[in-house]
Amino acid sequence: MTAVTVRVPAKVNVQLAVGGRRPDGFHDLANVFLAVGLHDLVTAEPADELLITAAGRDVASVPLDATNLAARAAIALAKLHGVEPRVRLHIDKDIPVAGGMAGGSADAAGALLACDTLWGLGTPHDELLSLCAELGSDVPFSFVGGAALGVGRGELLTPLAVGGTFHWVFAAAPGGLSTPAVYRECDRLRREEGAGDTVAEVPAPAADPALLAALREGAAVALGAALANDLQPAALSLRPELRDTLAAGTAAGALAALVSGSGPTCAFLAPDAAAATRIAAELGPAARVAASPAPGATVLP
Ligand code: ATP
Repeated sequence: MTAVTVRVPAKVNVQLAVGGRRPDGFHDLANVFLAVGLHDLVTAEPADELLITAAGRDVASVPLDATNLAARAAIALAKLHGVEPRVRLHIDKDIPVAGGMAGGSADAAGALLACDTLWGLGTPHDELLSLCAELGSDVPFSFVGGAALGVGRGELLTPLAVGGTFHWVFAAAPGGLSTPAVYRECDRLRREEGAGDTVAEVPAPAADPALLAALREGAAVALGAALANDLQPAALSLRPELRDTLAAGTAAGALAALVSGSGPTCAFLAPDAAAATRIAAELGPAARVAASPAPGATVLP
């Protein structure tokens, strides 16, 4: 085999309920993930040693060393099987970097599947998912795609039924936001409000039954009414100008607007595909349309 290309989707969190800070520093989540049709492509081909190359959007901010999540995935898979990670991984980036859309996690999931296929390892699905969870909380979802409820750090997944297609607009914002910095700000805001930020003080996060029903029924208006992101106040505190972006999308006809994950990408749910195109045109060249749900990591023919 000479090269294997895997397509991996971005995600939006239609609900991100954040519990208190655990003693290990992580937060318990009820994280309703939806994979959306914005993709990176990860191509694996034989090489003398591990090499990462990247092209496409925001590529200057993608690390090309062993800290790249795709490289870490290849190394972890090789170690599991006692082989050397002799592979060139090329990442074609279309998912905004540090945008709260799990782009790095998508590349890790893509690299795992691409290397497993290239090296003919046939790693069982549940072992690949365990490797994904070791690589990062969002990586298992990037691998499976569709829609899922993630609990724990977000890595313990239950697939969810989706009864229709939802149409989105995503407005990437320059600069990115660090996910750990957004969680720290969330904790700080909670302490400032006097609510406390620990597991003992913050109510346990839970998925919203109305949101799950809206997904199941493919009901865009009901989904729009139920969208919720506990990290949004923290993202807006760090990047106040995102308020204007959210308001502009709503004024342009979005059913609802929210910060995607830890931001700074803003997500707008549109009533239909035509409206999504109109909203994107009003928001400007940084806005992209995408439909959901999208499949997880897929080997391209
Ligand atoms: P999440 O939504 O999972 O919190 P994100 O979409 O906000 O993540 P990523 O695009 O995954 O953020 O990037 C976060 C940081 O990870 C980047 O600033 C970059 O330094 C690093 N990184 C490592 N590997 C990659 C990769 N393959 N693609 C993009 N960034 C990567």
